[in-house]
Amino acid sequence: MASRVIPVEPFDLVLFGATGDLAHRKILPGLFHRLAVGQIPEGSRIIGCARSEMDADAFRASVAESLRHETRGKDADLDKFLSLLDYVSVDATGERGWKELAERLRADVVRAFYLSVGPSLFAPIAARLDQHGMATPNSRIVVEKPFGHDLASARELNRELRNCFAEDQIYRIDHYLGKETVQNVMALRFANALFEPLWNCQHIDHVQITVAEKLGIEGRGDYYDRAGAARDMLQNHLMQLLCLTAMEPPSRFEANAVRDEKLKVIRALDPVPPQDIVRGQYRASAHSKSYVQEAGNPDSTTESFIAMKLHVSNWRWGGTPFYLRTGKRLRERLSEIVIIFRDPPHSIFPRMDHRRGNALIIRLQPDEGVTLRMTIKEPGPGGMRLTEVPLDMTFAEALGADVEIPDAYERLVMDVIRGDQTLFMRGDEVEAAWEWIDPIIARWQESGDRPAPYDPGSSGPEDALMLMHRDGRRWREIGS
Ligand code: NAP
Repeated sequence: MASRVIPVEPFDLVLFGATGDLAHRKILPGLFHRLAVGQIPEGSRIIGCARSEMDADAFRASVAESLRHETRGKDADLDKFLSLLDYVSVDATGERGWKELAERLRADVVRAFYLSVGPSLFAPIAARLDQHGMATPNSRIVVEKPFGHDLASARELNRELRNCFAEDQIYRIDHYLGKETVQNVMALRFANALFEPLWNCQHIDHVQITVAEKLGIEGRGDYYDRAGAARDMLQNHLMQLLCLTAMEPPSRFEANAVRDEKLKVIRALDPVPPQDIVRGQYRASAHSKSYVQEAGNPDSTTESFIAMKLHVSNWRWGGTPFYLRTGKRLRERLSEIVIIFRDPPHSIFPRMDHRRGNALIIRLQPDEGVTLRMTIKEPGPGGMRLTEVPLDMTFAEALGADVEIPDAYERLVMDVIRGDQTLFMRGDEVEAAWEWIDPIIARWQESGDRPAPYDPGSSGPEDALMLMHRDGRRWREIGS
């Protein structure tokens, strides 16, 4: 199946933080791929900005070096891509470079300002773009995560951005939404007649959402120790997965229709009592340091793991819990949404009781795909013995080897240029997520409790298993 590429109109993309890690690892390679498949037309320009002093040639050379793995055998595309690049040295908190940047921009094309810089620079950059007349109606501003660190700071940031840009010009990135498989949650639910009639508390026993990482905090200790799993993963990525799984069908696949429905899910979340939350922190092993060693903070009470039971208090989900968990240094790198269906109302088979019932497993990574767990008769004589089998579909296999699944950033950057906000978070959505999580974090800070220790390479602390066991349920194994 050939991928369809719809070329966009020529644009000016200004990339703040152009010398940084995210720009070189994700954004610039993503843009290169889009050019290589023919989506970026001639006449588009990518203007890198950062404080570092260099000319456009030096910037092009640094980008060519970062792209060397992607561009092997694609010299003509690389030359074309490098010819789009320009560079202006700009100080986000000073006056240097702003006038020069304004002069380089064209009035008659879409302009996107991508803020791939630390969050403390979002507001100063927006204000300077405005002061220098660059925040025009054909402009868009893209901000990276984290969007605030609590409700008050998110509100303040929303206010500062909206002083300079309208809400429909602000693109708040949660790169999880750019993953093809995450969008597939909506396709599975709303483009098939099969699942939606069963997608409610009458037929679904519970839902499990897991985002597990094998790595620890590595070099991100400074940031992570202030954030923890709740702010780094739960408030944004897991919340988005929960919303897509639990939301009502929007009337159209349009930015505000989709985001209205996601917002309703967040607003329907019950407060979570302390006994329904487990926090963990990884220990050292023979091969790896402990969390506190990596964070360089022996007294740290920051969690590197969190599991919780949630209730979405509405007509569709009354009585069907959602169990969420995320953590670092776990057994495998894995993201999945697991829908566990209720048992049939009556069993005509005497030995069915121990069966685990139907499950729909949506794998986001690795090996993106869907598995439906079915119960069938075990072949052969010996009476009616039942067994479970997977109806398994890996998207890469089903769609053919020539289909490339683009990286989330590729998709999202081009959505910005096209002016499509469907896969970006609206300001009220972000605020609602903080409003829900703030009291949970405040409670931990008041209590000063230490997170439960867990072994690297495990599924998290024992208490997380108990969170399920006490409800007569169990987590799907990480790495099963
Ligand atoms: P980084 O490697 O530290 O890069 C920061 C960039 O900002 C550099 O290009 C730096 O260039 C520039 N910068 C710093 N101060 C500046 C100033 N006063 N004026 C102008 N430019 C300035 O950070 P990163 O890892 O790329 O992350 C960028 C953003 O993306 C952050 O908000 C981060 O939370 C978010 N993010 C990153 C990742 C990731 O995988 N890296 C993932 C998700 C989200 P100069 O020093 O030359 O000025």
